[in-house]
Amino acid sequence: MRTAIIADIHSNLEALHAVLARIDAFGTDETICLGDIVGYNADPNECVNIIRARNMRCVLGNHDACASGLEEPDGFNPVARRAVLWTRAELTCENRVFLKSLPREQRVGDIFLFHGSIHDTNRYILYMNDAADNFTELARMGSSIRIGFFGHTHMRAVLSYYRRSVSVENAPEVKLAEKKRYLINPGSVGQPRDSDPRASLLVYDADNHRLTFNRVEYDVHACQDKIIRAGLPSELAERLASGI
Ligand code: ZN
Repeated sequence: MRTAIIADIHSNLEALHAVLARIDAFGTDETICLGDIVGYNADPNECVNIIRARNMRCVLGNHDACASGLEEPDGFNPVARRAVLWTRAELTCENRVFLKSLPREQRVGDIFLFHGSIHDTNRYILYMNDAADNFTELARMGSSIRIGFFGHTHMRAVLSYYRRSVSVENAPEVKLAEKKRYLINPGSVGQPRDSDPRASLLVYDADNHRLTFNRVEYDVHACQDKIIRAGLPSELAERLASGI
């Protein structure tokens, strides 16, 4: 069983098309989305329509929560707030209902899916103490859950936990050890923040205990043009070119 894992699409239709074309070429068995289908960029309905049409397993992100009206963007910076309120006005009724219906977290066999942190959609796993807190929560769910997949930071991460210590693994391919627990972030499809503008995806091979990270080029200019034409803040277009 091979699963493609994506996160933080953020209404970037060009990046989503490119990533899904790569996933289709890989012929994986399932695709999972770790939230934030919308926000920042200019194609919210088109991106939600694709996720719905593919019947993709998906959890709720913080931008999805604000765009659908479940939450208010009180903690957002002014640019993110403007974009999420624009998105709220753009969403069709069906897509708003769909986003509201997404679970905040989901268990699938021995893996656990969430957006920011376990039991907190808005909190980041950025530092070692964040990771340690989340490994504690993961352990509370029982020994059968070994891996938590998350998004929100827009940066790929493989954090492992063994004998009470957290380690970071940076290789593009990672062989998972049976004795360890893991927290894994596939990186962002629609707004990468690791200085590489290409869209990110991850393939998790459960049978061979292997992670393979991938990056895909997409038409950044087309996405930037739509952001400007929609009247969204120009910073959102500029950051896509440099992947920050
Ligand atoms: Zn996000």
